[in-house]
Amino acid sequence: MGYELVSKLKELLGYENVISDPEELYTYGFTAYAVVREEPLAIVKIRSTEDVVKVLKFANEYKIPVVPRGSGTSVIGASTPSKGSIVIDLRPMRGIRVDVANGVVEAEAGAYVDEVDRECRKYGFMFPVDPASAEAATVGGALAMDSGGMRGARYGTMRHVTLGVEVVLPDGQVLTLGAPVYKQATGYDLMHLFIGSEGTLGVITRGWFKIVPVPKHVGRVIAYFDEVEDAAKGVFEIRRRGFTPLIIEFMDDIVVKLANKIKGLNFPEKNMVIVDIDAPKEVLNNLLNEVAEVLKASGAADVKFTTDPNEMVKLYAVRKQAYPTFAAAFPFSFMGDLSVPLSALPAIVKKVREVSAKYDVAIGLIGHAGDGNLHPLVGLQSKDEWWTKARPALIEIEGYSIELGGSISGEHGVGIERKDLLIKELKARNNERVIEIMRGIKKVIDPNNIMNPGKIFD
Ligand SMILES: Cc1cc2nc3c(=O)[nH]c(=O)nc-3n(C[C@H](O)[C@H](O)[C@H](O)COP(=O)(O)OP(=O)(O)OC[C@H]3O[C@@H](n4cnc5c(N)ncnc54)[C@H](O)[C@@H]3O)c2cc1C
Repeated sequence: MGYELVSKLKELLGYENVISDPEELYTYGFTAYAVVREEPLAIVKIRSTEDVVKVLKFANEYKIPVVPRGSGTSVIGASTPSKGSIVIDLRPMRGIRVDVANGVVEAEAGAYVDEVDRECRKYGFMFPVDPASAEAATVGGALAMDSGGMRGARYGTMRHVTLGVEVVLPDGQVLTLGAPVYKQATGYDLMHLFIGSEGTLGVITRGWFKIVPVPKHVGRVIAYFDEVEDAAKGVFEIRRRGFTPLIIEFMDDIVVKLANKIKGLNFPEKNMVIVDIDAPKEVLNNLLNEVAEVLKASGAADVKFTTDPNEMVKLYAVRKQAYPTFAAAFPFSFMGDLSVPLSALPAIVKKVREVSAKYDVAIGLIGHAGDGNLHPLVGLQSKDEWWTKARPALIEIEGYSIELGGSISGEHGVGIERKDLLIKELKARNNERVIEIMRGIKKVIDPNNIMNPGKIFD
């Protein structure tokens, strides 16, 4: 049966666009979520919205699961293929068009976020959302995950910069939701329903986004703290005093020590906060000084700042190496995600240290902390430790962020990994009806449950 279906799909989409050889199927079974691997039935290389329409009509008729895919960098299993599914790889669909006059960029789903940003920069603008994975993450993946990034404290996540999306529904119908204008008030906001839907409602084929001017004058402050809680307090104090930095990044001493050792860097082995400020040239130094003073008052042992672009790059080197360092230092590693009110940052970092000791597992901390978002990096000696140490530790940490008034995910989503934690969060807020409503929406849009089944909820 599988063979016949694949043959039909090849006739429909062209033999060169449908991949079914075992090596490729094996490769596509992997994503950045190493816990689960599953092989699809076939992979389709998508070149146009019409291709998506054809695949979805076909899959809906034969009730075959469909998993939209960008680069597979989801760390919670959102892009892990369902068994026997058709994976649709949108990366060949990469058009980008900058409309400078109207401050909008239109990008197809397979364009890399970094590529879109580079295109905007040719005109003095930038793409506001910058996930650390921007070189690999696609526009479709970032939309489907409502991704955030370093500039989240200023510009928010994909949800906040998207003006419109083109989507293909499971029955093959194409809709344009929203529009390339800065304001639109026209009934239920279906566009935002698709942002963060993790491929469970339809396939996003293109989007229209706000762009922002590249700041002309930027300076970077870097502060080193002996105590991890003081570093977290420093982040809170900057926001509390009304600064709106371009970025506020956080990294604990565990990650810095490892980065020094593994990547041959030479940073003070302390907890770090990095703050970028943009402002007119005449006031930039004053503002950098003020931020430095706030960080000192929060307990920083040493604070530096610079406006020299080369120096700024050097100061960021250790943050850039954080995730690769953990991945290189341990045979198996996992990146958690949580979001808390800014005032709760010191409490959550304290909890991470306690949980790390309780489960005897290495947990470093990084994050775009300026919007209350942190990523515990868990380093394991073997994959088995995932079940005995890492998962219980992360459940405790991410669960505690609910108690602090926060959420189990700031930007990585639910996927396969956080389905039970999502229920926990909803229960804690007496919001269990939300799952029922989500299921109802899914049923209306995708009655045959072909779109990325088993993600977000069962
Ligand atoms: C080292 C590293 C750093 C990261 N840093 C960040 C970060 O700073 N911020 C952040 O938010 N995330 C980050 N992530 C997570 C991940 O990179 C993002 O979620 C990213 O946007 C996913 O893009 P992708 O193209 O790889 O999507 P995939 O992993 O391929 O897909 C993700 C989900 O989107 C769905 N999907 C993909 N394309 C479409 C489409 N066209 N239509 C409908 N659904 C679709 C998939 O079905 C799946 O559910 C990081 C991951 C890694 C490994």
